[in-house]
Amino acid sequence: MLTANAFAAPGANAPLTATTVERRDVGPRDVLIEIHYCGICHSDIHTVREEWGGTRFPLAPGHEITGLVTEVGAEVSKHAVGDRVGVGCMVDSCRECPECQAGQEQYCRNGNVPTYGGIDRDGTVTQGGYTTHVVVDQDFVLRIPDGIALDAAAPLLCAGITTYSPLRHWGAGPGRKVAIVGLGGLGHMGVKLAHAMGAEVTVLSQSLRKEDDGLRLGADHYYATADPETFTKLAGSFDLIVNTVSAQLDLDAYLRLLAVDGTLVNVGAPPEPLAVRVFSLIPRRRSFAGSMIGGIAETQEMLDFCAAHGLGADIEVVAAAQINEAYERVLASDVRYRFVIDVATMR
Ligand code: NAP
Ligand code: ZN
Ligand code: ZN
Repeated sequence: MLTANAFAAPGANAPLTATTVERRDVGPRDVLIEIHYCGICHSDIHTVREEWGGTRFPLAPGHEITGLVTEVGAEVSKHAVGDRVGVGCMVDSCRECPECQAGQEQYCRNGNVPTYGGIDRDGTVTQGGYTTHVVVDQDFVLRIPDGIALDAAAPLLCAGITTYSPLRHWGAGPGRKVAIVGLGGLGHMGVKLAHAMGAEVTVLSQSLRKEDDGLRLGADHYYATADPETFTKLAGSFDLIVNTVSAQLDLDAYLRLLAVDGTLVNVGAPPEPLAVRVFSLIPRRRSFAGSMIGGIAETQEMLDFCAAHGLGADIEVVAAAQINEAYERVLASDVRYRFVIDVATMR
């Protein structure tokens, strides 16, 4: 067993503090990773504040992990000591159900094992990437292409794949009008990816405060949702809307922005129910959908796509001692566009 330095939440209303977590011995199919960077996802905040319920404390969150392999088990063939690797939101799944067989481990019928706060195959509660080391089955470890720096790569493991997967699934590409709602961690990756796929991209943000950034990231248009004119002007115009907002929204107003057969995909995960009037859907055969991260093979495809297009996340690197302050800034929509923890500050 290895004792790793960590930052963890002791309970729902407590700030994260320095502590340690135990890592299992490296099994025959395991990889030991020395973590260099870990992104701060809004899901970490929902979880440690117990907004979704059922959080197992104490908990070290973090599922945007990058680092170097320092040890591999005897049967490991996919990774070698010294490799640049990443771990996203899952560390295992049943591997037998139809979804696992189809490479959609995120939708495993028997439940995937989340990187933090889930029950691992040895019965322990999984602990995430706000730590110096992690031991993960080789099948759930991704290769980070050489062209992407480890700090800018970290957010791709959740924010990147969570936007890449629905953009691909609903066919973002040339001739398609895509809107991204919310320019935060997920949203800024959504803009970069949809632009790289060739779609015409519009940002719908609360204000025009980040317009210059949005256009620089690849958006063709940028509108403030605080302005009611936006909703009149853009009515019926999008093929696909990806909603990344972590809070309540007037969904009907956004659904009315879809063209005939358009889809609004919710990846944002506010704890309370979202209301939809069926008459926002029926008159234009519109769809309202959800999407969760992406499978392992698709995550590798996304990383390779990012390398081919020179994409990484726009990040602000913080020391471990700044995690609680970074959380407050995320909650205030004051993030440009992902906080990434420099895990060296935990050693
Ligand atoms: P984030 O960085 O905080 O970005 C969310 C953005 O939403 C903010 O930057 C802000 O953008 C906008 N926003 C926030 N509060 C708002 C409000 N009250 N009204 C309107 N807009 C608001 O968060 P994130 O890390 O990207 O995560 C976003 C959501 O996705 C979270 O709920 C997270 O749990 C969820 N998530 C889901 C998956 C999945 O698999 N489906 C994976 C990862 C994360 P503007 O300032 O531009 O308006
Ligand atoms: Zn996440
Ligand atoms: Zn399965």
